[in-house]
Amino acid sequence: MTTAIHHFIAGAHAAGSSTRAQDVFNPATGAVTGRVALATASDVDIAVAAAKAAFPAWSDTPPIRRARVMFKFLDLVNQHKDKLAHMITAEHGKVFTDAQGEVARGIDIIEFACGMPQLLKGDFSDQVSTGMDNWTLRQPLGVVAGITPFNFPVMVPMWMFPVAIAAGNTFILKPSPTDPSASLLMAELFQQAGLPDGVFNVVQGDKEAVDALLVHPDVKAVSFVGSTPIANYIYETGAHHGKRVQALGGAKNHMVVMPDADLDQAVDALMGAAYGSAGERCMAISVAVLVGDVAERIMPKLIERTKALKILNGTNLAAEMGPIVTAAAHQRITGYIEAGEAEGARMLVDGRGFDGARAGEGCGEGFWMGGTLFDHVTPEMKIYKEEIFGPVLSCVRAKDFGEAVQLINDHEFGNGTSCFTRDGNVAREFARRIQVGMVGINVPIPVPMAWQGFGGWKKSLFGDMHAYGEEGVRFYTKQKSIMQRWPESIEKGAEFVMPTAK
Ligand code: NAD
Repeated sequence: MTTAIHHFIAGAHAAGSSTRAQDVFNPATGAVTGRVALATASDVDIAVAAAKAAFPAWSDTPPIRRARVMFKFLDLVNQHKDKLAHMITAEHGKVFTDAQGEVARGIDIIEFACGMPQLLKGDFSDQVSTGMDNWTLRQPLGVVAGITPFNFPVMVPMWMFPVAIAAGNTFILKPSPTDPSASLLMAELFQQAGLPDGVFNVVQGDKEAVDALLVHPDVKAVSFVGSTPIANYIYETGAHHGKRVQALGGAKNHMVVMPDADLDQAVDALMGAAYGSAGERCMAISVAVLVGDVAERIMPKLIERTKALKILNGTNLAAEMGPIVTAAAHQRITGYIEAGEAEGARMLVDGRGFDGARAGEGCGEGFWMGGTLFDHVTPEMKIYKEEIFGPVLSCVRAKDFGEAVQLINDHEFGNGTSCFTRDGNVAREFARRIQVGMVGINVPIPVPMAWQGFGGWKKSLFGDMHAYGEEGVRFYTKQKSIMQRWPESIEKGAEFVMPTAK
């Protein structure tokens, strides 16, 4: 039995007009569990029209009343958080406890968005000229769209829509067709929370739907999270069509291990950050930069731990790593491992050939792979330069701290990075000198909190505003400045010179 997965438009499930659909898999078993509709441009038109129709009333609703809907939504998401996590595991494959963590980090953003009345407060300047005041407002943009990747089907949409909607916009979510089901539960819960129809819409689809959103004159802003080539395309196409765009792209995150670091802590950190979620995180650590004599001391531990990873069906609570998301991703990652071997990196643990049957009952046909560990990886190699997005850790050796920093700064991606050390000055220098947007000091995956904002540098983000936090609020609102005086303060006669403070 496969489920038909449709759109959610104007407060109702909608089949849409498309004849195109895509299989949705359970990656653990390889079974097809659903068929997701792939919207046409006219489906997108219908969704945008619904969002446009809902905008005047929603944007005019007092922020405190919008916040009350968010509070109810928060309550409902909390009640359904395990259901959402199960949906993630079923279509993405990540282990259930990790999926619970994903939902929890999404909930953080809903909580942040509940404070929107405070966040929307403007500035007021009294008496900028005699009898005249000047203040600013932040007003919503209109219909805004979010285009999201497969790897966080709940959290990444929640980076966007709670902030956009609480700020008074109406929203079209275009989730990844790989794991589309959770988006519909989020839409249903929002409706139950009292969100007016048309404020939050879900359009399932692929490039056709994305392109229709990018050129649609009624879509005022686009938030994107996904791979760098598509992020670049979204940024250029959206901007060309007059939209505000924030497009978060791919990554190659390095973790520096200094000789004074606690190596057991560093190994724990590398295991979780490289192989957690099968390395399919934009903040995964895919490169370990081992400084000085660290490589000799740490390698036996890394080998042992990589071989001992508990790779199981994500529904098994003992699992540390689940399957790869799709057969195509499995093939791509395998290709990178072959390239690493061919280019002369030393393979210490080979994740190919992991037999799915070991992962649990019914897993024989799933998209399984073990953890792979490479040593002596160098900057010219493809496995160093490109994002693999799988459970492959590349170790690079650096003679000292300066060389480690240079290596990271020379990489074209700049999403996240981390440095393990006990030396406060090294930590401080690292945080200041590194050309990366999100930095961890003894923290391997430094995903900023809801009120701080998320975003990389270089080819990891196109646009100038980060997701969520106060930058998120700024992205989804435009500033208006108002100057006001009353007849008692107006002098007689026309003024032909540039007005100045009087
Ligand atoms: P992807 O770029 O393939 O897809 C992302 C979205 O774009 C999906 O909704 C997809 O349907 C759409 N899309 C795909 N091809 C398109 C095309 N040709 N034209 C228009 N739209 C298209 O990414 P993915 O494989 O779903 O996700 C993994 C990638 O996302 C990795 O590169 C990862 O680093 C990145 N990512 C980045 C962040 C971040 O915050 N920087 C967070 C999560 C994931």
